[in-house]
Amino acid sequence: MRIYILITYLLINTNIIANELNIFSARQEVLMKPLLDKFERKTDIKVNIIAAKANQLINKIVQEGEFTKADILITTDVGRLHNAKEKDLFQKITSKKIEKVVPKIFRDKDNYWVGLSLRSRFFVYNKNTVKKEDLKGYLDLRDIKWSNKILIRSSNNVYNQSLISAMIINYGEKKVTKFLEGFVENFARKPSGGDRDQIRAILSGEGDLAIVNSYYYLKMKNEDKNGKLKDLIEYYPQDNFMNTHLNVSGAGIIKSSKNKGNAIKFLEFLLSKEGQKIYAEVNYEYPIRNDIKLNSFMSKNSKFVRDDLILSEVAAMNKKAIFMMDIAGWK
Ligand code: FE
Repeated sequence: MRIYILITYLLINTNIIANELNIFSARQEVLMKPLLDKFERKTDIKVNIIAAKANQLINKIVQEGEFTKADILITTDVGRLHNAKEKDLFQKITSKKIEKVVPKIFRDKDNYWVGLSLRSRFFVYNKNTVKKEDLKGYLDLRDIKWSNKILIRSSNNVYNQSLISAMIINYGEKKVTKFLEGFVENFARKPSGGDRDQIRAILSGEGDLAIVNSYYYLKMKNEDKNGKLKDLIEYYPQDNFMNTHLNVSGAGIIKSSKNKGNAIKFLEFLLSKEGQKIYAEVNYEYPIRNDIKLNSFMSKNSKFVRDDLILSEVAAMNKKAIFMMDIAGWK
């Protein structure tokens, strides 16, 4: 026994068996940092992170095949998780703890990926040019009253693809086809930039209503000490068919991972009460568990009627959504 321990000790310290975890992350490292530090201190597992766009990371893992160093892939949209699953990059996450705390609609039905945090895709509008009474659900944005007012990024953005996918499920293909025709006509400008740029474009008067992910706006709003955003208000879209669209940031464990045990430990940590609170508050997101007590700003901004589609079904609609957006001429 003693010899076994000694050998293991030597192997770890000569890096032949490294007690490590390699994360390929589509989330910026700064956003993950407070969590990584905590996890490293708790476990003695050394975490290495490679950050890039989800598509690039997925391609890299495909190319490297079984020689990839990646243990975990973290993405910021269910569409990419689904994509990685279809490319057969993941193995099942076997953890009763995780199954217990993550609602079914926020994880893969075969447990190939799991959601870690939630975000909504809502409207931000200029209160001087848009009347609150005029706001309804997503579908209403095809109405001519929105002509020249709408700001949104391009159709190759996965957040938009997931929103349209969810609309197809909620409203049906026919209605969404008609919606897209009118919606694209109402754009204030050719889609460009990220979600934050759409908010800035309201401030510069280029348009009046932006469709953005909640955390970008909530962070800007909370840090807005000079009242630059005082004329902007958020709105949670809702009508008889669809409530406010939700998406996840999430993760899967890579099929060829040599550190599966560490990978599961890490995901369990992110989904623990402690991990969830940090993850949500640092990133201005909503926790995926419903038993987390948030700071007052986030708890105030987490109360809205949430759409409750099964996210893997939303993700499976991705190709159809892209096709329809393209036909409608959404650049
Ligand atoms: Fe984002």
